[in-house]
Amino acid sequence: MSYSYEAPVSQALFDRASIVTPGGVNSPVRAFRAVGGTPRFMVSGDGPYLTDADGRDYVDLVCSWGPMILGHARPEVIEAVQAAVARGTSFGTPGEGEVALAEEIVARVAPVEQVRLVSSGTEATMSAIRLARGFTGRAKIVKFAGCYHGHVDALLAAAGSGVATFGLPDTPGVTGAQAGDTVVLPYNDLAAVRAAFAAHPGEIACVITEASPGNMGVVPPGEGFNAGLKELCAANGALYISDEVMTGFRTSKAGWYGIDGVAPDLMTFGKVMGGGFPAAAFGGRADVMAHLAPAGPVYQAGTLSGNPVATAAGLAQLRLLDDAAYAKVDAVSAEIRGLVTDALSKEGVAHRVQTASNMFSVFFTAADAADDEVRDYDDAKRQEAFRFTGFFHSMLADGVYLPPSAFESWFVSTAHDDRAVERVAAALPAAARAAARATEEGVRA
Ligand code: PLP
Repeated sequence: MSYSYEAPVSQALFDRASIVTPGGVNSPVRAFRAVGGTPRFMVSGDGPYLTDADGRDYVDLVCSWGPMILGHARPEVIEAVQAAVARGTSFGTPGEGEVALAEEIVARVAPVEQVRLVSSGTEATMSAIRLARGFTGRAKIVKFAGCYHGHVDALLAAAGSGVATFGLPDTPGVTGAQAGDTVVLPYNDLAAVRAAFAAHPGEIACVITEASPGNMGVVPPGEGFNAGLKELCAANGALYISDEVMTGFRTSKAGWYGIDGVAPDLMTFGKVMGGGFPAAAFGGRADVMAHLAPAGPVYQAGTLSGNPVATAAGLAQLRLLDDAAYAKVDAVSAEIRGLVTDALSKEGVAHRVQTASNMFSVFFTAADAADDEVRDYDDAKRQEAFRFTGFFHSMLADGVYLPPSAFESWFVSTAHDDRAVERVAAALPAAARAAARATEEGVRA
């Protein structure tokens, strides 16, 4: 398929990048392979807008895949970063900024009694699983199909996100031994979890789940699912790990925990808490965290963990995220969801918008399944993703930057004002028509 909308400077950069970097990108989904066309190389961001290397600006509905909940270049965050940078960028010693960020996390999220800072969500989930195994002395872990927890070897089995986009069931490079202790179950299926505990008595160290999945599209937990996981884990001596890398400090002040109130044994965070810098964390019960080195025997470390610039950015961002900020993000999200539904319905495009607080995604369901809730990864994969391709490129041509895959959450920020929303509204009718015209072979002219 070819697209009339050219981006010559981005294309030249992509050509250069493809010589020195595999696939031209540093994280697969950025390459636009699921939708085709030229990935846009961005040069700056301001509030709800991104500007690309060709000088075009876009309303950004990706927000760096979640972190930029205050929009781009929010002055208070930039000032905190500039002040921190001026004092030096890394000391390899403890510093007050990391204490303050840990205190902020502990104050917001009641089940987190202690927290360890790391540099990526992947590191957070990898370390939480190691800790769960070290604490319980057990090897097996349970995860759910379509949940993505970063590119941890043991967790790259039936993962969502980039892996869902490419339809890879697995990846070369992960050995049978690394994935062999991972039990993959269908999401939202407590009976399957019960059966797994019955099949592996005394062997399961933890169940890890996205607090509310956003990596197979937005597929919230059914009523009682998270509470059921917690109960089953407690009854079987396993730890319940809630991965809040995406939902943490985004879906509410206390993340998804602030919405469902189910207290996990361990939690993982990233994205919003780093204010656009590489900062992430895992934390939870003090008696479990006490097993972590140097307090306990489970090793975990990082040269740049608790980096002073990253912690300054994260702290500045979290301190601005009060009730009013979440009310604003929720309201913008509701407005855009309404506009999308109106535009698609007007063109008779079967779809389903699923929501988890202010996170949402659009499933281009088959016409006879539009009323069916998407409850797991199999449901998510049944959508007519080819319709998204036409929709995506029409939005892009009209200055709205969507996640370049039908299997991702859309993200908004406090900076998405009326002008930005109006631009989205103006772009939607043509995109809905493109979705309506789309076929598996491409968009009919
Ligand atoms: N966990 C969840 C739920 C995520 O959405 C992601 C990334 O999208 C990760 C973990 C991995 O985080 P990172 O990309 O910072 O390694």
